[in-house]
Amino acid sequence: MTRRRGRELYLNSVEPPTYQSASYYFDDSDHVRAGLHERSTAAGRYGRYSNPTWLEVESQLSELNSAESSLLFSSGMAAHSTTFLALLKPGDHVVLAAESYRQVRNVFHEILKKFDIIVHEISIRDPDMFCAGVRRLRDQVRLVHLEMPSSPHMYLIDVAQVRDVLGPDVIVTLDSSFSPPPNFHALRWGADLALFSATKYLGGHGDIVAGVLSGRADLIEQIRWYRDTTGPVTDGHVAALLRRSLYTLQLRMERVNAQAMAVALHLDAHPKVSRVYYTGLPSHPHFKLGQQYLNGHGGVVTFELDRTEAETAEVVDRLKVPFMASNFGAPQTLVEQSTFFTYFEYDDAGLATIGVPRGTIRLALGYTDDVADVIDDLDNALR
Ligand code: PLP
Repeated sequence: MTRRRGRELYLNSVEPPTYQSASYYFDDSDHVRAGLHERSTAAGRYGRYSNPTWLEVESQLSELNSAESSLLFSSGMAAHSTTFLALLKPGDHVVLAAESYRQVRNVFHEILKKFDIIVHEISIRDPDMFCAGVRRLRDQVRLVHLEMPSSPHMYLIDVAQVRDVLGPDVIVTLDSSFSPPPNFHALRWGADLALFSATKYLGGHGDIVAGVLSGRADLIEQIRWYRDTTGPVTDGHVAALLRRSLYTLQLRMERVNAQAMAVALHLDAHPKVSRVYYTGLPSHPHFKLGQQYLNGHGGVVTFELDRTEAETAEVVDRLKVPFMASNFGAPQTLVEQSTFFTYFEYDDAGLATIGVPRGTIRLALGYTDDVADVIDDLDNALR
């Protein structure tokens, strides 16, 4: 059946329509002039450059993050790599928080290295040492990339102090995938750009892969050109799923914050658990920073057992409530044995460097489970 030209039949649906179109037509050459050449009227051109559903979600994301502008990407990694490719040039020095997400580190060490970008990795385990390292390099760096909380230890960074040390000219990017608003507002503390894997809490239903970048409009415009040119874009359907998810972000975060706090407190008092990493617990090394920066501590609780990898696997195998899967922010509770999942390619020396013993388990609380069931399940598995 042929589709005839025509506008929508009506425009008063409560939920806005979802646009799924590879290109956009113009009525005549006057429309091309106004919509494309002069941009005096809003008009689409081609699906890689924009989509009305993206534009709508991007504006909601800017509001959420108190940002001047936002961009949607096909994944969190697409948002990261496009940002760095756009903002860096050969010879630039960057500081990378050493506990950043493994694939982000790969982008710096394996991909950006090819473009002669010089990477200085500094651990965030000691926040003062991190700031001191940044201070030593401040006159030569163009960009500092942070991530907080980091996985699996949930380390935090004194972002305001980092900004203070750097002054206004160095670009600060911050991966806030583990701590979206309302838990943390990266841009209010001095980051220029906040990056998110929207696959996690922003998407919140475990059914999309997407990335988000929010922040300074001048930087976003440079990055937009790279996104539009290299094409790591999503489609209207994914954008619509994200739009749906943003309605419940606050509710979901409140729920997982409470679920994870209850589990963390329980595990902290458990005789068979040797250590718990949760920034809401006073035992976390960065508890004080958590009180300063976070309005909630998120759904991820990492804990250690004083057991071998095989013994730890037995405990994880006995769990019945969580899915054994590598993600967080999904409706379901997910569990991963860190050295058997994310870090299975690391040898003992590598694990010692990142401080992850073989008895480490990362639990990502979902909002659909009853926390009492999760706690009973953990008790049974540990017994
Ligand atoms: N940043 C963090 C902290 C992550 O955990 C992940 C994915 O696990 C990413 C970025 C990458 O996001 P995506 O999987 O959406 O590409």
